Amino acid sequence: MPIQNSAPAPNCKFPIALHDGLVVEAVYYGSETLCISSQAGCALACPICASGSQGLKRQLTLAELELQLDQFRQKGFEPKRLTISGIGEPLQNWTNVRSYMINCQKQGLGISVTTTGVVIRQLEELISLATNGVMISLHAATAAIHRQLIPNGPDFLQLCCEIDRIYPLISRRKRRKLGINYLLLAGINDRPSDLQALLAMMQRWPDFTLHLLRYNPVAGRNFHSDPETIDHWHDYLLANNISVRRPNRWRNSADGGCGTLYLQRSSP
Ligand code: SF4
Repeated sequence: MPIQNSAPAPNCKFPIALHDGLVVEAVYYGSETLCISSQAGCALACPICASGSQGLKRQLTLAELELQLDQFRQKGFEPKRLTISGIGEPLQNWTNVRSYMINCQKQGLGISVTTTGVVIRQLEELISLATNGVMISLHAATAAIHRQLIPNGPDFLQLCCEIDRIYPLISRRKRRKLGINYLLLAGINDRPSDLQALLAMMQRWPDFTLHLLRYNPVAGRNFHSDPETIDHWHDYLLANNISVRRPNRWRNSADGGCGTLYLQRSSP
């Protein structure tokens, strides 16, 4: 089918049926970005996210990573860029994700990745391969809050030390494509003391961009974000010379937004 210029509806989810009956999801954001999944499920099972609610079923193969863009193209669409930010932790499927990223590089496809940084030793190589940058989801500026929100993730202090080590080794141009994700959760990590800790943390990495995120509701989870607090944090951090972004409107959706992708099974 020929490639069209018209785009599907923003936040349009694409179920990708796999050979063994599992179904992962890709989602097309209104920013003309196709977000693909890296694993069938996720072993990290973060309490804030739907994607790990069944744990990890298996890794996606290289062919299954490629299938997601292929199926999108077969519908007649072409994204401007890709992001590996869907179901799964990319660093836990590193061999296949790495091969996929190298193939994307060869084709001139811009690709970014979102990770918790769980496999700390692979972070540096990931950053070197991601042409459009890496988002490191911390959601915390202290080890205690980090452990609460990403309990199966990396050791917070070790991860911060690794970022400190890598930071001066990366070109400034590349550093400006790197970001820290911080999902504001009312009463959990949005207190004034959290804001001060976050400011101090971001001052260690002045070329990074801080992405403030708003929670997308997930059934059975009792979290929410306070929009006024997000606005206050944004203005305060900006006034303190932090490169900070408000929540990306395309990724705020109860169906297709960050944290709302589910692993499913096709009906027999
Ligand atoms: S937030 Fe990321 S790492 Fe955590 S369960 Fe969801 S997909 Fe996995």
